Amino acid sequence: MKKIDWDTLTFDITPAEKMFISHNRDGKWDKGSIVSYGTVPVYPSAVVLNYGQGIFEGMKAYRRKDSSIAMFRPFDNAKRLNSGCKRLHMPPLDERFFVESITNLILENKEYVPPYGKGDLYIRPVLFGSGQMLGVQPANEYTFVIFMSPVGPYFKAGFSGVKIEIRDDFHRAPLYGTGNVKAVGNYATSLYPRSLSKDRGYDEVLYLDARNSLYVEEVGAANFFMLKEGVLSTPKLGGSILPGVTRDSVLTIASKVFGLQIQERDIRYDELFSAYELFCTGTATVLTPILTVGYKDKKYKIGDGKPGKTTKEIYDELKGIQLGDREDRFGWVYKVD
Ligand SMILES: *Cc1c(COP(=O)(O)O)cnc(C)c1O
Repeated sequence: MKKIDWDTLTFDITPAEKMFISHNRDGKWDKGSIVSYGTVPVYPSAVVLNYGQGIFEGMKAYRRKDSSIAMFRPFDNAKRLNSGCKRLHMPPLDERFFVESITNLILENKEYVPPYGKGDLYIRPVLFGSGQMLGVQPANEYTFVIFMSPVGPYFKAGFSGVKIEIRDDFHRAPLYGTGNVKAVGNYATSLYPRSLSKDRGYDEVLYLDARNSLYVEEVGAANFFMLKEGVLSTPKLGGSILPGVTRDSVLTIASKVFGLQIQERDIRYDELFSAYELFCTGTATVLTPILTVGYKDKKYKIGDGKPGKTTKEIYDELKGIQLGDREDRFGWVYKVD
């Protein structure tokens, strides 16, 4: 293993030595194998390359204070992957097979799990149509791979907060499209809008709903939360929003641990301008405070320009549960070793 500087980790790929690969031929998944990280050959006529029949997941393995390794709600990722398989007409995976394949691979890549407090091992399962087709048809062969990489914070600024720009000239996902699953094709379309917002000094794009360009959907590839007058609100799920595991955990922690009133509803973009606290959530981003919101040529500062108190409390509780420093009262922790 080559030496990794745990203190300078960012959200970049530093592939762990081993990956997992399994194939589905004749309608059945084989038991798969653990091999050295490397290329996966596909034909130019593979359905994933031509028609985007592919899906992924994003998870983490955490090094806890006692040096043991744990995952967080991995069966929720298995279920979400399978709902994506259904939407993209791909064969689902057995949930136990999914979680056990990941567990076995983590054990093989153990030394890539950063030390407690230095970062996490990011886990990326990908499932795609590797069979050849000319017309738009489902593939007759599928590949499931898992690779892993130690990572640090997703946003360079980490917990210190980000600037987002509300855009109504690009949408992320239409209603009844594939916004609620991690379809590979959803993400390529975010690259150009984000580059425009980056050029204007922002870190990410806040997307509005595709029907009205009025209601908040997501911040890049993260779910959105707003605290205002004691109520924590997040856009309600309804087809175009990805049901984040972190989103669900934050809603649970906010109401059950901190007694906050929570609302899943349509949030108009102009409600944000007078919010007390804003943040976005995801496995990679955890909870990231949003301190500036841009809309057209206006900029709105949120709160007092520092990460909010409630944002920090929920972050500490979530991280605490994942790292084993707080009681796992909802049964979310899944021990790996
Ligand atoms: C993965 C993802 C999220 C966050 O989901 P988690 O399960 O919390 O990691 C949010 N939005 C989009 C678009 C995503 O792809």
